[in-house]
Amino acid sequence: ALEISGLVMAYGDVEVLRDVSLSVAPGTTTCVIGPSGSGKSTLLRGVNRLHEPKAGSVRIADDDALSLRPDELRRRVGLVFQHFNLFPDHTALQNVALALHDVKRLPKREAERIALARLTEVGLAEREGHRPRDLSGGQQQRVAIARALAMEPEVMLFDEATSALDPELVKGVLTLMAGLARRGMTMLVVTHEMNFARKVADQVVFMDEGRVVESGTPSRIFDDPQSERLRLFLSEVL
Ligand code: ATP
Ligand code: MG
Repeated sequence: ALEISGLVMAYGDVEVLRDVSLSVAPGTTTCVIGPSGSGKSTLLRGVNRLHEPKAGSVRIADDDALSLRPDELRRRVGLVFQHFNLFPDHTALQNVALALHDVKRLPKREAERIALARLTEVGLAEREGHRPRDLSGGQQQRVAIARALAMEPEVMLFDEATSALDPELVKGVLTLMAGLARRGMTMLVVTHEMNFARKVADQVVFMDEGRVVESGTPSRIFDDPQSERLRLFLSEVL
């Protein structure tokens, strides 16, 4: 489980997350929606401590994430971004294996064996020798997901994983993410894909101006919004 409580985050003196609390039960998927600048990426950065929270707590299972060593946190919480940040001079297989070698300290051969299994899971076994520039954007994103999965994370965070992709490549990545959710991965997914949120999420959280405005089941959020702000947001995106 992932439990975020009273999280406050700032860039310099500017507070951009104000008292954000939410929990993701084990094996469930929570989608975070909200306007640009509402603090969605900052929330994920706080969970993974790419940016240190100013106050509040984050718990992963029974551990205080803010006191875990950064490398242990990285191993336990996988993060997939909009831009996949693959190493351009490494093959798909090497991109996945490198993290296993660096973070899990596995010997090269063992790391490559696991990397190939993860690439197979995301449907890219036959592309293992390709460098990122010889893969489509959707394939590159699937390599990035395989790389995160290779750590056997307890929680996966996704930040607009499909928004940099050409429209025809979006579906393959969303299908892969939906499969992970169905197989019981615990996921916190920032997305603009409202259909994905409606179909896949157990819980949807609507953020605006650094706060959680409403949260609930997809049907509560999409069919019965309570606040004016959510109604306005949905009228703009649906
Ligand atoms: P989007 O949907 O556009 O990705 P978001 O909901 O992810 O938006 P954040 O990126 O979390 O929003 O940004 C929240 C606020 O923090 C915004 O006002 C943004 O300008 C500000 N912000 C984000 N990153 C930084 C930074 N590195 N330094 C200063 N301010 C930042
Ligand atoms: Mg963002």
